[in-house]
Amino acid sequence: MSDNLQPTAEPINRLIQELNKLPGIGPKSAQRLAFYLLRASEENAQLLADAILSVKRQITLCSSCFNVTDSDPCRICSSLERDRTKICIVEQPQDILALEHTRAYTGLYHVLHGAISPTEGVGSEDIRVRELLDRLRNDRVDEVIMATNTNLEGEQTALYLNHLISGMGIRVTRLARGLPFGTELEYADDVTLTRAIEGRQEL
Ligand SMILES: [Zn+2]
Repeated sequence: MSDNLQPTAEPINRLIQELNKLPGIGPKSAQRLAFYLLRASEENAQLLADAILSVKRQITLCSSCFNVTDSDPCRICSSLERDRTKICIVEQPQDILALEHTRAYTGLYHVLHGAISPTEGVGSEDIRVRELLDRLRNDRVDEVIMATNTNLEGEQTALYLNHLISGMGIRVTRLARGLPFGTELEYADDVTLTRAIEGRQEL
């Protein structure tokens, strides 16, 4: 009986529910998207469904830098044009997209997949710190650029890593100029980010 009182058909409700789980998509937006998809051609709906599934099936993490990739090592790690003496440390794969977009940096990356946060119970063993130290020990690296976010967790993480790396004979710099405190890298504009890379300072 109660099922019959549902204003929309079960498959539509299910789609609304799933869309509602996405970040930034509230119930109203989920509803709008669901009805948009309902009106879309079957071909377009199939393209979207395929794109979602291929991301899950084909994307893995690069075994060297832990960027998301469909080939291992990733395109950046396997490129002969990158400066292999520099490693830029970021929190998330999408930060690489932001930095690559500026074209101001030509070195390699290392994705931590998070930042140290005692309040949220995230310790150094929960992010890719050990793997970073292995790389620094085994590869010929001259400079490590800390490009963690400029919020509390990002700053703590940069200082902690600096502490671990100091004594390895590697220059450690930090993106600084132009990035206001509290900035998430992924949302910084190109000009600000380019200035931050070029104006990096000793940590
Ligand atoms: Zn890689």
